[in-house]
Amino acid sequence: MSQPLGAYEGVVGGAVMRQLRNLGDKLKGLRVVHVNSTREGGGVAEILDWMITLMRDVGLDTAWEVIHGTTPFFEVTKSFHNGLQGKAVYLSQKDWRTYWDVNQENAERLRPILEDAHLVFIHDPQPAALIELCPNRKGKWIWRAHIDISRPYHPVWRGLRAYAEKYDASIFSMAEFAQPLPHPQFLVPPSIDPLSDKNVDLTPAEIESVRGEYGLDPDRPLLVQISRFDRFKDPVGVIQAYREVRKVSPVQLVLAGGGATDDPEGKQIFEEVLEAADKDPDIHVLLLPPNAHRTINALQRLADIVIQKSTKEGFGLTVTEALWKGKPVIGGDTGGIRLQVINYYTGFLVNTPEGAAHRIRWLLHHRDRIPEMGKVARDYVREYYLLTRHLREYLTLMLSVLSGVQHRVIQV
Ligand code: UDP
Repeated sequence: MSQPLGAYEGVVGGAVMRQLRNLGDKLKGLRVVHVNSTREGGGVAEILDWMITLMRDVGLDTAWEVIHGTTPFFEVTKSFHNGLQGKAVYLSQKDWRTYWDVNQENAERLRPILEDAHLVFIHDPQPAALIELCPNRKGKWIWRAHIDISRPYHPVWRGLRAYAEKYDASIFSMAEFAQPLPHPQFLVPPSIDPLSDKNVDLTPAEIESVRGEYGLDPDRPLLVQISRFDRFKDPVGVIQAYREVRKVSPVQLVLAGGGATDDPEGKQIFEEVLEAADKDPDIHVLLLPPNAHRTINALQRLADIVIQKSTKEGFGLTVTEALWKGKPVIGGDTGGIRLQVINYYTGFLVNTPEGAAHRIRWLLHHRDRIPEMGKVARDYVREYYLLTRHLREYLTLMLSVLSGVQHRVIQV
């Protein structure tokens, strides 16, 4: 359940509140619609949950619409996702047709609200074709890409770029992801909600009850990776790193994740992870329901070290969540993880399972550095990656788009 804006004053201070309210006053009453492809599971849903509440709170008439898709559609869009993140995937004419047809069905339902809005935010590729299907749109349309699109597989990007080009602006999480597009591009990294069930402080009793529920040993170090079961999150690489570390330290590992309704690959990857875990009683592979926010919160707090060994990552909210809980993160040296993990300060960037194992061993050997880095990590998130900064940047870019600014790449 998202909180009203005033609830964050205790975390970020009164000046930030005033700035947001002032920006909101300039946009009051505008009709804003966000569209994505799932209401739960994954980072986009996590962000939209609070963003809708806060945009409404500062005076915008904001709606969140979710497109409906079939299994073949989500298989195609997962291929888009994989292709944009650099994997060579083949898409047939039929696949592109499936994509178009499902967007068309959704356009029939959503056209009145979308064409009438002053601002429409379309998140990721799944609903990107809606722009062509709303020819009488009155407002400005912004495409928000959440994934690492720095080195896309070109046949896929070529197909999607045809839609992306039609937008009035686009948003990427970092400069490396920006693309040659004929409109202003804004750079806005994501953020977390410090008061959500996922991140709010928990009592020691609640944390301990999660430890008991999953049979975790309080006397041995715990490594945790929370992620959808997705190959780019490299859960099998995490198991390899754990095995290296086990040769010298009796660590335990939690790999926890659930599915997202727009990600059909999860089941297969989950099976691969179970096979790699090979019934090791110290590897806890947990398939969590979509509302397991407090459980994830507790697991992140129980961890000595959090891992996010992705080989591609748009941003990695799980990294931000862990840093906020004062945990150093061993993260894949890729995408948005590079914005968050700073070697020897907030964690370590790694490229291989061996590299991850090396850094885990280093931290376990220098135990006093864990809380020291954890403190830096929390301060770093407070400074850069809380939702109030994110909201401010969205409000600023909305003003800029509505006023027709024509710069090409804008860091707000
Ligand atoms: N998450 C969750 N349940 C899971 C796995 C992940 O609630 O089983 C959350 C996680 O805590 C984070 C988001 O989903 O808030 C994942 O965002 P991230 O940017 O790390 O990755 P994405 O899934 O968007 O690629």
